Amino acid sequence: MPAVTNHMPTAELQALDAAHHIHPFSTQSNFEKEGARVIKRGEGVWLFDSEGEKILDAMAGLWCVNVGYGREELVEVATRQMRELPFYNTFFKTTHVPAIALATKLAELAPGNLNHVFFASGGSDANDTNIRVVRHYWNMKGKPEKTIIISRKNGYHGSTMGSASLGGMSGMHAQGGLPIPDIHHINQPDWWAEGGQLTPEEFGLARARELEQAIDELGENRVAAFIAEPIQGAGGVIIPPSTYWPEIKRICAEREILLIADEVICGFGRTGNWFGNQTVGVQPDIMTIAKGMSSGYQPIGGSILSDEIANTLGKDEFNHGYTYSGHPVASAVALENLRIIEEEKLIDHVRDTAGPYMRKKWEELTDHPLVGEAKIVGLMGSIALTPDKSSRAAFAAGAGTAGLICRERCFANNLVMRHVGDRMIISPPLVIQPDEIDVLAERAHRALDETYKRLK
Ligand code: PLP
Repeated sequence: MPAVTNHMPTAELQALDAAHHIHPFSTQSNFEKEGARVIKRGEGVWLFDSEGEKILDAMAGLWCVNVGYGREELVEVATRQMRELPFYNTFFKTTHVPAIALATKLAELAPGNLNHVFFASGGSDANDTNIRVVRHYWNMKGKPEKTIIISRKNGYHGSTMGSASLGGMSGMHAQGGLPIPDIHHINQPDWWAEGGQLTPEEFGLARARELEQAIDELGENRVAAFIAEPIQGAGGVIIPPSTYWPEIKRICAEREILLIADEVICGFGRTGNWFGNQTVGVQPDIMTIAKGMSSGYQPIGGSILSDEIANTLGKDEFNHGYTYSGHPVASAVALENLRIIEEEKLIDHVRDTAGPYMRKKWEELTDHPLVGEAKIVGLMGSIALTPDKSSRAAFAAGAGTAGLICRERCFANNLVMRHVGDRMIISPPLVIQPDEIDVLAERAHRALDETYKRLK
């Protein structure tokens, strides 16, 4: 076997990658025909590949590198913590300063009475924790029959058995025997694709009321919780109509169910507030956090629980935990990342500078013949590609026809945008500056032109 080094030619790296490295959410055999792009370095919003190309990362990695690449402060904190205490667990009556400091900081940042953190290594296992938390909570309250969790079709909550069951991705459910029992999915608030003749406001109300109908059908005595992303990310950055969340809030207030806000993407500044639930105006009982919490520099996630839930669970042993719950290096890096977000006023930057400028450039894309709607909140946006704007038509050749081409044209133009079906989505690092937004918009426009030509 050759020793793999940083200086190896791209083709050799790609061949070894195809032979030995199984990629998530990919058709592995395709890598034998066309190798994966080898990313070597990052700086700010920019990536550099093994051919020396400079790529604008409008996805912040996987929606996570909020403070941008190349932050020395995070490297230093990680190094220091590795020297001092690279690992210790938080089971069995032990703890350590990084986990205490991070939990304390998160309790300060989280809205309302969300004051108690259970750590995980990412968003998927944090959502698995949530399944166990809400079921055990109701059991402790003397209501063991409350086990059903309602979530949404096309929502994304992770890739473990539990979290992928919560998610409503049909492609994931088609493999491996998902969903697990007692998860119920209602429809998503995607007006563009599913709104028919209703106005966005009417549609938002109708889709929110599906939660009420589901609770009535399943029985309030059996429903434990509703989980949702404030804004669906991996489903295509589906920004719900303005009527949706207030109605969900009313239903949750009237019914005895818990609200779990999955903040894995929306959290830590993405929507122009610390958390997406603040942007949409609801107070959850539990928040799932990950990604932007450490800006992806270390794998860490968690669940922030309300006083009521934590105090109830605290009366009994909670038989749950991960080796890396509250990992000291990940915790120290996350804490430093939160300090950067605060000290550099990145949330103000999203709300007052980068967000409004990005919105202007993003909405200008609707002048393009392929672009139906352009939606954005903070620095999380999507455009819907369509062959006919007025009827919001889908492409006759099937979902993803234009999206896939457009994603490839973006990549060829050194811009990372993702596609979900025929929606193109962005979630750039929060540090993005106006001149970089100009480059993003200009490359997006070029990719759309090239897509348009190819579709003809
Ligand atoms: N929840 C949401 C809303 C996500 O977007 C994701 C990942 O994209 C997850 C959960 C899963 O997080 P992870 O991939 O860290 O397990």
